Amino acid sequence: MYYIGIDVGGTNLVAGLVDTGAHLVSRMSIPADRTKDADGLIQDMIGLTVRLCEEGETRIDRQYDIKAIGIGIPGQVDNRAGTIVKTVNMPLSNTNIRAAFQTVWGAPVFLGNDANCAALGEYWAGAARGCDPAVMVTLGTGVGGGMVSGGRLFDGFAGSGMEVGHMITHAGGRLCTCGNRGCWEQYGSATALIHQTIEAMESHPDSLLWQICGGDLKKVEGRTAFDAASQGDAVASGVLERYREHVAVGLISLVNMLQPEIICIGGGISNASDEMLMNPLRKLVLAGSYDKGNHTRITRATLGNDAGIIGAALLCRSI
Ligand SMILES: [Zn+2]
Repeated sequence: MYYIGIDVGGTNLVAGLVDTGAHLVSRMSIPADRTKDADGLIQDMIGLTVRLCEEGETRIDRQYDIKAIGIGIPGQVDNRAGTIVKTVNMPLSNTNIRAAFQTVWGAPVFLGNDANCAALGEYWAGAARGCDPAVMVTLGTGVGGGMVSGGRLFDGFAGSGMEVGHMITHAGGRLCTCGNRGCWEQYGSATALIHQTIEAMESHPDSLLWQICGGDLKKVEGRTAFDAASQGDAVASGVLERYREHVAVGLISLVNMLQPEIICIGGGISNASDEMLMNPLRKLVLAGSYDKGNHTRITRATLGNDAGIIGAALLCRSI
């Protein structure tokens, strides 16, 4: 038996076949066609899952061999109703995606938020395997998160729990897209690090940061400060020191609230070196932890983009 996981991204739609041992055995992807409406995009997803079974590396009889389908959505979903409630940057809000899939598929269809799916993937097959509770935090465009507790996804009573990026870590701080001020993602995301880097560059015209981005503020990326700091630039080191404190303050709150056995960190920022990111974060989190005797392990996520596909596929086991 196999499971199908779908990772719905703004750039690509990816479908993968996952076996009962949580291995991703084949995958297929197509670009997300920005000109299409909800119906068109969902038909693309359905077509992709059918082709995955009939033309993929592992050919299977889709009528008999598929136990469940899971769909990871960048936004808010209502798994009970089978609907996508809200998506940013994709015209999928207020659509009953389960009903559409079940016109073609007999297997049950589950919906999950993409950050929750990534957490499930790391729990079933990645860095958090065997750890409970397990928390995953993604430092990307925003800050995403998810938790598995007792082998089940914890997502609150109506599916919007563990929106860790909107945990308020800096009361009265920067205005967030959600309408609140001081949300963690306004300080700890890659986007936030880019803002922090640009601010530092504006007040330090001699910093190496300027050379690294060719004198163009539009070319500043999440990695720019890491690159400059590794070449000895003091301004970049200062930016990173403050950035790590911003990340740590959220991690400390998660540790003190939930005491997870592990927090795995994913997203583009997690590619930074241990010396520049993970080791100092571990120190900061340890210093701020209430329980000094039992340490939450802070580690890098290991599955990258596969986490979301594997986690979506195994939603049926986890909710
Ligand atoms: Zn917010």
